[in-house]
Amino acid sequence: MNIHEYQAKEILRDYGVSVPRGIVAFTVDEAVEAAKKLGTDTVVVKAQIHAGGRGKAGGVKVAKNLDDVRTYAQQLLGKTLVTHQTGPEGKEVKRLLIEEGCAIQKEYYIGFVVDRSSSRVVLMASEEGGTEIEEVAAKTPEKIFKEYIDPAVGLLPFQARRIAFHIHIPKELVNQAVQFMMGLYRVFVEKDCSIAEINPLVTTADGKVLALDAKLNFDANALYRNQDILQYRDPDEEDPKEVEASKHGLSYISLDGNIGCMVNGAGLAMATMDIIKYYGGEPANFLDVGGGATAEKVTEAFKIILSDPKVKGIFVNIFGGIMRCDVIATGVVEAAKQVGLKVPLVVRLEGTNVDLGKKILNESGLNIIAAESMADGAQKIVELVQ
Ligand code: ADP
Ligand code: MG
Repeated sequence: MNIHEYQAKEILRDYGVSVPRGIVAFTVDEAVEAAKKLGTDTVVVKAQIHAGGRGKAGGVKVAKNLDDVRTYAQQLLGKTLVTHQTGPEGKEVKRLLIEEGCAIQKEYYIGFVVDRSSSRVVLMASEEGGTEIEEVAAKTPEKIFKEYIDPAVGLLPFQARRIAFHIHIPKELVNQAVQFMMGLYRVFVEKDCSIAEINPLVTTADGKVLALDAKLNFDANALYRNQDILQYRDPDEEDPKEVEASKHGLSYISLDGNIGCMVNGAGLAMATMDIIKYYGGEPANFLDVGGGATAEKVTEAFKIILSDPKVKGIFVNIFGGIMRCDVIATGVVEAAKQVGLKVPLVVRLEGTNVDLGKKILNESGLNIIAAESMADGAQKIVELVQ
């Protein structure tokens, strides 16, 4: 789960990690009020969307006075910002962070991520801050330094100090930088982050070490023990289909293709997407209805798939082990009747109560194409959507 920059900065502040003073604004008037309250010579007006690259796209503006703040807030609120992270459709700006302007001396990069190959949290840092870390990794990988963190002891101060020296933090600010990294690591662990990225971390003319940007991602599977994070959820930033799916306990992820998939079991769902691609098609979604799905749940899943205008055909691929084929069939028929099925539907059923399942589908009066195997089903649906 992703949150906004201003929310991430709130969390960092709670953990004693230094961030500039800032106030969130939802309207132009609120933006001007916020700037007045901050009372600094310059304030920065920052578009709040769940994507980076805002600076280059014109989503971060430095205002010298209140008139500037008003102008920039007017320009940004309601605007669709397209950055290299939003995709071509962009994201609408509905919130602004009004933040004190900082006299930046130098920009650095600091990030914590989970490294799967070592099964550890790794601290990454570079003195090439402000630019995309992916670009630094591609062009000058020698400028990225890493510390692997032993989970038994956590980040040790000497590791943070070593990083600070590698990226040439000025000597008099090393202790502050170490405190910063230790605090950010605590946030990462205690809040079950999957990413904690500060780009840029800056040193300022008046001798401070600050997070000018902050990106925190949270492991959705750990949200049950971080209920406080849920308050930061912004439904405007989420795919409404995914929000709906999560309400029904379905694992659904929207993709770019046109073949809707309904599958049980994450492994089979992955394999189904693979085989669709193998035969030249593109899946519109990943959907695992789970082992113990009821007919109602299947109905909801089917509705979600059909609510996607990209979907030109549906492939139901079910292995009835725990899940019974007749339950799936009942759900599919029910949903198709409720929503009205206007696209081809290929069904491959195998396993418990398969005959009953097939009977329900055959007697439904719906136009359903039966598949003999997974490969057969994939080929059929790919042909039908072309
Ligand atoms: P993004 O990564 O989405 O482009 P950032 O928050 O990193 O957005 O801002 C882009 C750039 O704008 C920063 O690298 C920094 O140079 C400048 N900037 C951001 N916030 C401030 C601030 N409070 N004071 C001065 N400059 C800022
Ligand atoms: Mg940034």
